[in-house]
Amino acid sequence: MARYRDSLCRLCRREGEKLFLKGDRCFTDKCAFERRKYAPGQHGSGRSKISDYGLQLREKQKVKRIYGVLERQFRKYFAEAQKRKGVTGELLLQFLEMRLDNIVYRLGFASNRRQARQLVNHGHILVNGRKVNIPSYRVRVGEQIEVREASRSIPFVQESIAKIENRGLAEWLELDPDNFRGKVVSMPSREQIPLTVKENLIVELYSK
Ligand code: SF4
Repeated sequence: MARYRDSLCRLCRREGEKLFLKGDRCFTDKCAFERRKYAPGQHGSGRSKISDYGLQLREKQKVKRIYGVLERQFRKYFAEAQKRKGVTGELLLQFLEMRLDNIVYRLGFASNRRQARQLVNHGHILVNGRKVNIPSYRVRVGEQIEVREASRSIPFVQESIAKIENRGLAEWLELDPDNFRGKVVSMPSREQIPLTVKENLIVELYSK
């Protein structure tokens, strides 16, 4: 599957805010955005006025980049959200939150979504006891997610789970850190999704 391979920090600088794509490093003074708070490129520091379309586009790009999803897949999520009953923007975020790679990250088995995707891709994650190696797999309420026993000694998994208390566990998840096991107990409400995005702008963009 195609994926973004360039510098992650450039994405934060492009969006004009920290997207926390690198885990722990994002909280240190090594964060590139802290040092250069302007868009990358020759004219990065000179850009100012942004149109309504530009705002909508930036909001969409921001969400795609946070979850590491490419345009085609993002559009599919949007199309599905539009068909469902409910608030389209919220449903869109819910679909993204219920991706297996995101849940692995939220449970603290990885310190960022990219690392979480790698864990899933390499077959280290079980869903209800069965290996699932598809990062976009949509987890359902009640399903149990765990790190395979043989994979629990991976250093970054150990480091990451040790920090989950500091990071804080989402209210809609349950975690048994000793057994590297967690569960989705409910669908996250919009208030429970800690993103400062204006999803209504994405709906406006795609509804044109
Ligand atoms: Fe963004 Fe993290 Fe890089 Fe800072 S360190 S620019 S928050 S990805």
